[in-house]
Amino acid sequence: MREAGRITALALQAMREAVRPGISTQELDEIAAEVLRQHHATAAFLGYPPGGPHPFPATITASINNELVHGIPRPDRVLQEGDIVSLDCGAVYEGFVGDSAFTMGVGQVSDEAQRLMDVTEEALAIGIDRARAGNETRDISLAVQKFVEKHGFSVVREYTGHGVGRSMHEDLQIPNWWPAGRQRRRGFRSEPLLPGYTFALEPMVNIGQPDTKVLDDHWTVVTRDGSLCAHFEHTIAVTPEGPPMILTAL
Ligand code: MG
Ligand code: MG
Repeated sequence: MREAGRITALALQAMREAVRPGISTQELDEIAAEVLRQHHATAAFLGYPPGGPHPFPATITASINNELVHGIPRPDRVLQEGDIVSLDCGAVYEGFVGDSAFTMGVGQVSDEAQRLMDVTEEALAIGIDRARAGNETRDISLAVQKFVEKHGFSVVREYTGHGVGRSMHEDLQIPNWWPAGRQRRRGFRSEPLLPGYTFALEPMVNIGQPDTKVLDDHWTVVTRDGSLCAHFEHTIAVTPEGPPMILTAL
């Protein structure tokens, strides 16, 4: 898991260094694919989900501005000064998976876009800090939601953090919000966090409303109101004591 995470982090780092006005999301995809090849890893996203009607066609997902996640890299999607771009990559190494993402500005971005990215990254750090043995998944969800909403942004409901191991998506689900009061919804079960659990936390934050929709390409998720959005993700491991290991950090 550590090595898969490290390779994922190297791919993200290589893309971070390459982001500039004029580069296409296809070129960023090729940069990540090359890092994975160099480290004898394969792409967790490529062909995902196996056997599905619309297998994902690339190594990374690249999502620009009001695109939240799952954007398909294309040679004609070229980054412009002032855009924000979310890049997500998963590496498989010797049967284990790493999954990580970040959002960054292209050149100079607006103050509000920068604040959105800062709040989302900080929300991930807060969630990670709560991922301790003795806590439950709900502790993470509530901490992320409270922090984001305190800053006037909204957390996306439809997509959650997830167990990561030999598969990219394993059973544990960690939403970035939690139903208030006695409200109970299907799929919301708070699980105790045990040492050795490995999972991805990935807050997705919108400037406007939390609602999203999927485009006709079957993949790209955008905000319904067209507002800017950001996404940060790490794969982590719960330890017996103290904060978790961040497996996708260098
Ligand atoms: Mg991811
Ligand atoms: Mg993920």
